Amino acid sequence: MALGSPEGLAGVTDNGAVLLGSNFVADSFWRRLVRIVTHAHADHYKGLPSSIRESIAVIATPTTLELLRILGFQIPRDKSLPLEYDRGIAIEEEVVTLRRSRHIAGSAQVEVETSNGRAGYTGDFKLPGTPPMTDLDVLVIDATYGSPRFERRWSDSEALDALALLVEKHVKNGPVWVYGYHGKLQEVMVELRRRGVKHRFLADYKTVRMVEAASRYYNYDVGDVGVYKGGQVDEPSVVFTHVSKINSKSRMKGAHIVLTGWELKDVVVRVGENRYNVSFSDHATFREVVAYVSEARPKEVIVDAYRGRDAWFTAKYIEKLLGIKARAEP
Ligand SMILES: [Zn+2]
Repeated sequence: MALGSPEGLAGVTDNGAVLLGSNFVADSFWRRLVRIVTHAHADHYKGLPSSIRESIAVIATPTTLELLRILGFQIPRDKSLPLEYDRGIAIEEEVVTLRRSRHIAGSAQVEVETSNGRAGYTGDFKLPGTPPMTDLDVLVIDATYGSPRFERRWSDSEALDALALLVEKHVKNGPVWVYGYHGKLQEVMVELRRRGVKHRFLADYKTVRMVEAASRYYNYDVGDVGVYKGGQVDEPSVVFTHVSKINSKSRMKGAHIVLTGWELKDVVVRVGENRYNVSFSDHATFREVVAYVSEARPKEVIVDAYRGRDAWFTAKYIEKLLGIKARAEP
């Protein structure tokens, strides 16, 4: 495939691979020397076994590599290349650097410097807490919420306060089940403890191990998290469960709370007798995506249309309102 940008610096392929420079590919499989994984979410470790086979190295932050191991990926030692934030490494005359991003433990933005210019890819991110990459010729940006129709009308801390209240209210009467994606669950555990929720936390074995990695990353100890081995829970406890398990668990005794970034009606919405949606997202809002671009001021923007919704709208908006050349890909 032809790289999107005229300088051939960056592009997004039909399978969601973000090509950077001539040697790097991030977040899906493509035949390139080096595979980068921006963070340990399924739509970003896509095709990793093929990359492990076909690339000479897999680059990610040490925390992301640890999370990938917990998730069951076996990256041979001689192919696993942990890279700390802000430390460049040169490969075939191109320098790759991971930059901090706020999304989940270990998540990173990617910057690649070549003789033709500089390309950057945000990966998933949230503002504040993600310093915009500047002086880029091409920026590939994630716009999960690509237009104002997805705008949330409350802040993260309002959502987390509401979640803490809801948990406290129900946990007195029995278990509270909290469903979310990896990363979000660990973040929410930290935030509930910070808000004074003292009840016992339970999670499956993988999630518990991921909590330990996240605690080190955030430098915040959530305390003991018990291993949930299945079946009914009788004591007042908060059980953290991957969102894919909701159908098998929703008949269990207790209150069930789904963390979702797609609940836009209100911060807490009751969707069943004992079931609630709490609107909490780990992605920048549309307005924050635009704020990122206006601070970064790259020469050109590619909006990732593989993972985001309404990417065409984001691109149009950036061109018209910020005067920066932009398009959606693929
Ligand atoms: Zn993600």
